[in-house]
Amino acid sequence: MTRTILISGASIAGPALAFWLHHHGFRPVIVERAPAARDGGYPVDVRAGALDVVDRMGLLPAVRDAHVDSRGGTFVGARGRVIARVTPDEVTGSPAGRDVELPRGDLARLLHEHTRDDVEYLFGDTITALEQDAGGVHVTFRNAPPRTFDLVVGADGLHSTVRGLTFGPEDRFRHDLGFAFAGFSLDEATNVGRNLDREFVAHNTPGRMAGVNAVRGRHRLIGMLAFATPPGFAVDPGDVPAQRDVVATAFDGGGWEVPRLVEAMRSAEDFFFDTVSQIRIPGWSRGRVALVGDAAYAPALLSGQGTSLALIGAYVLAGELAAAGGDATVAFTAYERALRPFVERNQELAKSGGAGLIPQTRTALWMRNAVLAALPYLGPVKRLLTGGVDEAARSFPLPDYERSIAAKPLPRDDVG
Ligand SMILES: Cc1cc2nc3c(=O)[nH]c(=O)nc-3n(C[C@H](O)[C@H](O)[C@H](O)COP(=O)(O)OP(=O)(O)OC[C@H]3O[C@@H](n4cnc5c(N)ncnc54)[C@H](O)[C@@H]3O)c2cc1C
Repeated sequence: MTRTILISGASIAGPALAFWLHHHGFRPVIVERAPAARDGGYPVDVRAGALDVVDRMGLLPAVRDAHVDSRGGTFVGARGRVIARVTPDEVTGSPAGRDVELPRGDLARLLHEHTRDDVEYLFGDTITALEQDAGGVHVTFRNAPPRTFDLVVGADGLHSTVRGLTFGPEDRFRHDLGFAFAGFSLDEATNVGRNLDREFVAHNTPGRMAGVNAVRGRHRLIGMLAFATPPGFAVDPGDVPAQRDVVATAFDGGGWEVPRLVEAMRSAEDFFFDTVSQIRIPGWSRGRVALVGDAAYAPALLSGQGTSLALIGAYVLAGELAAAGGDATVAFTAYERALRPFVERNQELAKSGGAGLIPQTRTALWMRNAVLAALPYLGPVKRLLTGGVDEAARSFPLPDYERSIAAKPLPRDDVG
């Protein structure tokens, strides 16, 4: 009988899964590589069924309180001339005020605070080996002593260690969408985006986008440098100086505020760089090991749906385990059957996202700008252009597991 479940990763999917596992009577333990829960970071979206998940967790008021309430953004030319302004609902097609956008770290911190009294957290550690047999999964950690768990779940993101140890090398499952992204904090002294307030400003040239996002007014400025990459593009994930060089080279000779952004990127302590990639994997579990969130089905940042998929995936995985009375074989199959069509529909969103954000030719850029400039005048027709995210987000009715569990309760006497 399944009782103890080790989760790798304490960002979004991990703590949400731990919450629901504990709720259903399991004993989750989380191992997280970072030394502590972090807040801040780039803003992520919580939509539709994912809002229902946080509501059922009792976190909706806190999540709504953390809403950054973005006013949208402006696309500008090389000399700062305004080309088009967009509101958040014009980007996603969802009515203003319905979705929530908050810094990823703030959501992770809320989830951690909500679960830390009931869940054992091992910060500053990582799994180094996994071996499964009839007795469980035998786990070796970098720091903690080895332990055996009934199940292990990888909630450790796009570059998941659990996936690597159990399913094989990342390049089998990672699909690069042809873009790379660098993000970094800007301090006010850079004088870039100084007058922005809860809005972004971006400047495109073919295949490149430079921008500033003022997440909470002038005190939280995030610089963004994103560019198209050729097939086979790769930079050593551990070589930060090489990553900074690649970004600087891609933006060499850029106009607008690009030189100052590149300079700030060069020295930023929280520099983040990655390819824009999806994870597509034929099965989300192997025996006693399963994956959730970006580790299983990262839809890429261009979809704007990664956080919602992580929250919904965690809820469904825990619910199916409870509904199956802890039978992992039944539960993992049901989890994947329930969620895969929804995941694939949301992954599709990222394919058009790149063309909209970083058009690659002069003609494509001109057409993108023309469409953006026309959005305010298109009325209901604009839903044909921007409605995709909202409709994909709403295409999964959240199951109610409490009823199926009532019919098949877990014996709770040996939980402790
Ligand atoms: C720049 C950027 C912008 C984005 N914008 C949006 C957006 O606008 N809207 C949206 O919905 N989504 C967005 N996303 C995607 C979103 O952040 C992810 O989809 C979401 O965070 C997935 O949550 P997760 O918990 O599955 O994985 P992650 O948030 O990636 O968390 C993985 C966790 O595992 C930990 N970890 C990794 N390896 C190990 C290990 N070996 N051992 C222990 N712990 C480990 C990490 O430290 C981290 O805490 C964006 C992503 C990026 C990079």
